[in-house]
Formats: sequence, C-alpha cells, structure tokens
Amino acid sequence: MEECAYIGLGTNLGDRELNLLRAVAELGKLPGSRVTGLSPFYETEPVGGVAQDNFYNAVARLQTSLSPADLLERLKEVEVKVFRRVPSGHWGPRSMDLDILLYGAQVLSGERLTIPHPRLAERRFVLQPLADLDPSLRHPSLGKTIAELLASLTTDERVVRI
Ligand code: ATP
Ligand code: CA
Ligand code: CA
Repeated sequence: MEECAYIGLGTNLGDRELNLLRAVAELGKLPGSRVTGLSPFYETEPVGGVAQDNFYNAVARLQTSLSPADLLERLKEVEVKVFRRVPSGHWGPRSMDLDILLYGAQVLSGERLTIPHPRLAERRFVLQPLADLDPSLRHPSLGKTIAELLASLTTDERVVRI
C-alpha cells in the first residue's frame, strides 16, 4: 500500500543548496518511492543553542510503499553513505538531516521512530515549507492544519526564502 510521507531536509555544511538538490534526487531513487512535491528552499537560524552556520531547509513530499521503519532506515543510509554524515550530537552541524515529518495520518510512538515528528509543531523552518506544499494538511494527533499551527507560532526565528 502506498502512503504520502513528508520528509524534512536540513543542511548546514558544505554547499547547502547542492546538498538539498542531491538529497531530493536520492529520495526519488528509494525503492517504491517517488517525489511528488518540493517546497521552496529556506535559510534558517539554527535552533538548540549550538553555535553553528545557518541551515538550508526544505520539505519533500514522497509517495512511497516503504513502511515507516524501512523509510527511516533508508533515510539514515542516505545521510551516512551519500552525505558522509558523522555524529555531531543532537542539533549540531550536519551535511544532511532527513526527518520523517508525517506519514499519511499515522501516529507512531516508538523508541526509534515517532510520527508525526515530535517537534514539528514548534518549528517554523518545518511548518513554513510544509505550508507551502499543503497548508490544509492536518496534523493527525493535534487535529490542527499546518496553516493553523504556523499561524499560532510565537517564536520569531528567521526563516528566509532563498
Ligand atoms: P530532531 O529530532 O530534534 O530534529 P535531530 O534530527 O538532530 O533532532 P538525529 O540525531 O538526526 O536528531 O536523530 C536521532 C534519532 O531520532 C534517530 O536516530 C531516529 O531513530 C530518531 N527519530 C525518531 N523519530 C524520528 C522521525 N520522525 N524522523 C527521523 N528520525 C526520528
Ligand atoms: Ca532534525
Ligand atoms: Ca534527524
């Protein structure tokens, strides 16, 4: 069975625009998957208090027959094998970070995988590109649309369209 997944992309090492483009190409190569949408690219301030360069962020829509667990595995493989991502601690600098933001209307809470992404609703750099793709998309556990979540943000982190 196919599902519609939304993947968050983030990079702040190397050629950030090229990294996003390469990551989208890699998503398109995943088995049983095709990219059906891509948000604009944004330059964003890092969150989490680690001093580091600004990120480029985007969201891709993926039609996929991979299960959530298999999809996560494949995304980690791309991070490590294609982008040579090395551990830099939570929220540290990285050549590519690929998160599963949403997977259809599924709600999962496990040790290795939580869907929707647990910090989705508080991050402008995720909500803005998600809203560009589909503002009426509904967060399955909060019951609010992406547009509503974006409008209710109180933080003013800089998220600039490039
Ligand atoms: P954040 O989760 O706040 O965006 P991060 O992306 O920097 O932080 P990572 O170090 O990339 O965190 O990932 C830590 C672990 O989070 C992963 O190994 C993965 O098992 C787990 N994880 C849980 N839910 C998800 C999800 N929806 N998408 C991606 N990884 C997830
Ligand atoms: Ca992340
Ligand atoms: Ca991640």
